[in-house]
Amino acid sequence: MFAATYWVHTFDRLLPASVYGKTHPEYYAYYNGKRHPGKATQWCLTNPELFEVVAQRIDSIFKANPGKTMISVSQNDGNFTHCRCEKCSAVEKYEGAISGNFIHFLNKLATRFPDKEFSTLAYIFTMNPPKHVKPLPNVNIMLCDIDCKREVPLTDNVSGQEFVKALEGWSAITKNIFVWDYGINFDNYLSPFPNFHVLQANMQLFKKHNATMHFSQIAGSKGGNFSELRAYLVAKLLWNTNADVDALMHHFLAGYYGAAAPYLYRYIRTMEGALLGSTTALWIYDSPVTFKQDVLKPALMKLYNQLFDAAEEAVKADAVLLKRVRIQRLTLQYSALELARTESVKDIEQIKRDLDLFEQRVKEYDIPTLNERSNSPVDYCSLYRERFLPSKYKSIALGKAVKYITPPTGGYANKPATTLTDGLFGGSTFVESWIGWEGIDASMVIDLETTQTIHSVTSDFLHQLGQWILFPKEVTYSYSEDGIHYTLIEVHTLEEDRSVQVKFKGVRSTLATPIKARYIKIDVVATKECPTWHYGVGHPCWFFIDEVTVL
Ligand SMILES: [Zn+2]
Repeated sequence: MFAATYWVHTFDRLLPASVYGKTHPEYYAYYNGKRHPGKATQWCLTNPELFEVVAQRIDSIFKANPGKTMISVSQNDGNFTHCRCEKCSAVEKYEGAISGNFIHFLNKLATRFPDKEFSTLAYIFTMNPPKHVKPLPNVNIMLCDIDCKREVPLTDNVSGQEFVKALEGWSAITKNIFVWDYGINFDNYLSPFPNFHVLQANMQLFKKHNATMHFSQIAGSKGGNFSELRAYLVAKLLWNTNADVDALMHHFLAGYYGAAAPYLYRYIRTMEGALLGSTTALWIYDSPVTFKQDVLKPALMKLYNQLFDAAEEAVKADAVLLKRVRIQRLTLQYSALELARTESVKDIEQIKRDLDLFEQRVKEYDIPTLNERSNSPVDYCSLYRERFLPSKYKSIALGKAVKYITPPTGGYANKPATTLTDGLFGGSTFVESWIGWEGIDASMVIDLETTQTIHSVTSDFLHQLGQWILFPKEVTYSYSEDGIHYTLIEVHTLEEDRSVQVKFKGVRSTLATPIKARYIKIDVVATKECPTWHYGVGHPCWFFIDEVTVL
């Protein structure tokens, strides 16, 4: 439908910053005192010359793709990277929404090419509609509900209500709406995402508010939480938003899982009840650890496993059905491993067996990825052994207080002083265990309480571009006996990493000759500002640390 696959985040493809950025920085967003030509920044939409260049480009794309009538002209995948130049700010102020400049620009294109249709995003910072300008009928609004929580329908929680307000606003000014919905945990595909009970109400809501097109981003990759059932239900609801979802679910489960169906149905409904009975929200970037006290608490984990045991038993004679049940069980196995990682007291031998079985199954079933960042499940297992199983060496910093010379950002400053020395390493989602600083360098001191012999110091950092968490530039260790005068151990320079995969980096100093000291100081020179190639170009980025090991 979309010409030359221009369907979302197309600004940079239409007008690559790598080509135009140097010669025409004025085409790109102005903020924080300068123009930011980049893959994730937006255009200076009030620039008349820019409009002509884009219009010519669009003309040539349609000429090269006869028969196509629709194209996406939409913001790059960055956040708050829109232009704040004087002219753009004036429009934004008048319209009471950042989307104002985008709609004015799109309307101009829609007028220039009246027989074509132009799709544009209403996403994150452009989610809210403008007050005055109305999209022309041949401007399509691709409205996204990415920031919403999903434990209840969108009408029933605060984040959802903000979206509903935006949806109502857009539907009052256009009949041409495309809703982009999200329905899986993007940081942990292989973890439960009990949202089946909200699908219908949300779909009905979209339809009621002029959504004539819909995309449900539910990560149908192999091993994802009920990805086949999820795709089936969404597809059926697209045909008929009043369909009997419960009957459809029974129908699919019986057809796809055979005699295991009743157990899986009970599993789905039990988990849904646990979620509704809790006060925890369901978010697309969560970790199973978030649900440790409710949806995934020990008594429920036990019940879920009993249900899966019964499900496997019911189809044990059928290799195809057994495989399907076991693929689905991976989400439970993965969750158990993630939960175990956060326990100080645990049965290590049992965890090793669980990890071996999980690894064997993900290999056997060829599960491609653990998350949206393309981390492989097999790599996860190796990393788990290295990072989360106890090493034979015990850190002498274990349980010792860390004094932050630079307080961590926001709520991270309130975490216990031993978060970095509790022996528990943070996982691939930043929501637990990590301590973060935003846009600043930081220093901290670990007080070992008595003079100790030190052979090495290691601190671990997180890399997750999607969450604006970047490795620091430099890490320096020094030591002191009195906590006043410090002697340098080593300065580490870290290379920039542009990989979208989640990564950890242990920055270690090993001392050729052991030293004696009571205090260890860590000075971090952070990246501080999202680089030009990053989604948040020009805005502060984070660094996250967990944990600090002293041997
Ligand atoms: Zn501007």
